[in-house]
Order: sequence, then structure tokens, then C-alpha cells
Amino acid sequence: MRAEILSVGTELLMGQIANTDAEYISKRLPEVGIGVFYHTVVGDNPGRLEECLKLALSRADVVITTGGLGPTQDDLTKETIAKVLGLAMVEDEESIGAIRAFFERRGSVMANNNLRQGCFPEGALILKNDMGTAPGCVITTGDSKYVIMLPGPPKELKPMFDNGVMPFLKEKAQKPLVSKFVRVTGVGESSLEEKIMSLIDGQTNPTFATYAKDGNVTIRVTASDEDGNGNQLLEEAVGKIKDILGDAVYSTEDEELVQVVLNMLKERNLEIACAESCTGGSLAKLITSCPGSSEVFHTGLVTYSEDSKMKLLGVKKETLDKYTVYSEQVAGEMAEGLQKLTGAQVCVGITGVAGPGGGTEQTPVGTVFIGVKYKERLSVTKHCFAGMSRDRVRILSVVNSLNNIRKEMLKDG
Ligand code: ATP
Repeated sequence: MRAEILSVGTELLMGQIANTDAEYISKRLPEVGIGVFYHTVVGDNPGRLEECLKLALSRADVVITTGGLGPTQDDLTKETIAKVLGLAMVEDEESIGAIRAFFERRGSVMANNNLRQGCFPEGALILKNDMGTAPGCVITTGDSKYVIMLPGPPKELKPMFDNGVMPFLKEKAQKPLVSKFVRVTGVGESSLEEKIMSLIDGQTNPTFATYAKDGNVTIRVTASDEDGNGNQLLEEAVGKIKDILGDAVYSTEDEELVQVVLNMLKERNLEIACAESCTGGSLAKLITSCPGSSEVFHTGLVTYSEDSKMKLLGVKKETLDKYTVYSEQVAGEMAEGLQKLTGAQVCVGITGVAGPGGGTEQTPVGTVFIGVKYKERLSVTKHCFAGMSRDRVRILSVVNSLNNIRKEMLKDG
């Protein structure tokens, strides 16, 4: 089955919001054996929406629209679709009751406009909205295509998609597929592809796709489950990837690196502290954004100036004078000093030149040193994120710090 996602909203066209709804839907549809062939974005304009819808119906079996289900005059998705398909708009008592109850729960009165949200093209299967007022709906066309209308706000769209659309499409899709996501770090996308080329080359079941983002590469492995052996094929393929890439694989369950590191710290009953310079607290922010991080996160310091590195962490003046603040020695002293200060078993010190200014011949912009004091053991790595923006240098420093911590824990088994 081929799908097209038709996102409706002038805000999307103007670049005011990113199309995260389409991203979410596209990631999920392959799980039910549906390939996404087109993404279309159109403004809140009935004429152009009509054109896009006709085109989408001419080339896809499933058309999923996002947005334009609200109560206001520019929310015209359902009406336009009904017009294109030659269907009347009819009221749905149950939906109107649910919308009224939604307002009552919030102690406010329903405006007449909201009644529009309880009207649907005749024959539609209605998808409840537990997070807002606009229900979604599915229409099966005369030639057995599906038009699925979903609300724009991601917090409304996601549960509706997971609980309503996925089970519906799973039943309709003829070719069930199963996927697994292998997460890798410390290897670039192209060298990773080279390494797993023997697996990828000429493969049709399972298939492999790689995506790189922020220092991580995800390998999506997808197998047909038509014969009921899809999961077995996946396990075999994932096993082969792990054999080739070894410790560079940090998850086969699509988990974030930070979550993997946190779980490892918890399992080992270890506490972590970070002293950050060029990353300005980004590592601490990322760790503490994970629920449950309080079990393992001890301290985060932003020791930006040389003075604070000396006063808070005990970095020696001689070390700074002799090696400069951007050096292996300073990163090491930061991590060691932090351990003395906090007593945390895992301490990280990060120093480097995020740029765009401040680089020298010896330490050009993008040079970063990461020190990890793991129990009694100190290790420092040097990284050259040359030619990268300030933001990227900081992101990659954080990812590499997490990976270094992970590798230290792996050494202990
Ligand atoms: P509402 O009932 O809230 O009006 P709606 O279905 O009419 O929902 P829109 O009015 O088109 O949706 O968009 C409402 C909000 O949803 C937007 O302001 C934006 O924050 C978010 N949104 C809309 N489309 C997308 C999209 N494709 N990706 C991410 N967010 C979106």
C-alpha cells in the first residue's frame, strides 16, 4: 500500500512550525507494511487543498491529512474532502456530546463554532480525540482507498494515530512488515555503510536503511512478516550487525544514548557528576531531562572561566599556563577535581573551543577534550569537530561524553 501525507496549515508553509506530524506518521507506517511515497504541504486554502487531495488520491491508496479540523473558518479539511468525494456533511451526536463534555470538564461553555467539529462526511468512521475537541475520521472511498483526517496538534494526533489509525491500517494492509532499530555511535554513516555493505548489498528481506543524526546513526532493519518469520529474520540480521560493529551498537531497541547510559549507571549503582566548559551545561541538561535521573545524577557545574576551573575543581595554574585551558591535562584535572569535590564515582570534565572565535593553530575551533574519571581510572579523549558550527560542536561533545562514559562502564563488564 502506498501512502501520502497531506499536511494542511499555512504556518507549515511559512516555516513557523516544523512538520513533526508527518515525521511521526512516516516513521510508524512501515510497521504496518505501508510505504510513504509523498509528503505534501498546503496552506489553509480550500481550492489548493482540493487540488492536492485529487492528486494524492490519484497516486496513493491511503491519504492521511493533518490539521485543519479546528472550529474556525479556515479549518476546512473535512468540508473540502467531503466536496471532492461527493459526500454530504452530517452531524454525529456522540461526537457533539463528547465535545460538550470536554468544555464542561474545563468549566467553560461550548461556542457554536465547535459544533462544526462534530460534523463529518457521511459514512465516516470517527476517531475519538481524548486530548482535545477535534475528532478525526476515516473515509473508505468507492475505489477502496482510505482518507484519514487527523488533528494538527501533535499531542492530539499521536494518541489518535497510535490507538485509532494504526490498528485500522494494520488490519487493512496486505503485507505486514516488522522493523527493528539499531542505534550506533562513534562511527560515521558512510563508514558504517561500508562496514555493513555485505549485509545490505542485494538484500530484499530484510532491508536496511541508515539515518544519521547528531553523532548517532540509526539502522532500520525491516522484514516481511508474511510467512510469520519476520521477527526471526530481524533477530538474525541484528545479530550480524552487532558482530560487525561490536560496542559501537548501544541499543537494538531504538533507545536514546542518554537513556542507555542512565540505565547502565542505575544497574551499577553509580552516581555521575559533570564539569562543563564549552558545552555550558548541555550534558547536565540532557541527563536531567530524563525521568528518573535523580537516582544517578549528583552534580553539574558550568566551570566556564579559568578561575572557576581552579577555584571549584582545583585545576592547577601551572597546568593552565603550560598546556592552555584547551588540553588533555586540563580535562583530566577537571574530572579528577570534580571527583574530589563530589565523591561521585563517574565524573566528566569537558573543555574545548566551540567557536566561531577562539581557535589557534594548535587548538583550532572544534577541538574538544573529554576527561572521564571512572572510579579510580582516568581517561581523556581528544576530538576534532573541524568545520562545524558552535551548536554542533557542543552537541557532538555531549554525545561523545556519553559514549565515553558508556565505554568505561563496558570495560568493567
Ligand atoms: P485545532 O483543533 O487545535 O484547531 P487543527 O486540527 O485545526 O487543530 P491546525 O489548526 O491546523 O490543527 O493546527 C493547530 C496547531 O497544531 C498548530 O498551531 C501547530 O502548533 C500544530 N500543528 C499543526 N500541523 C502540524 C504539523 N504538521 N506538525 C506539527 N504540528 C502541527
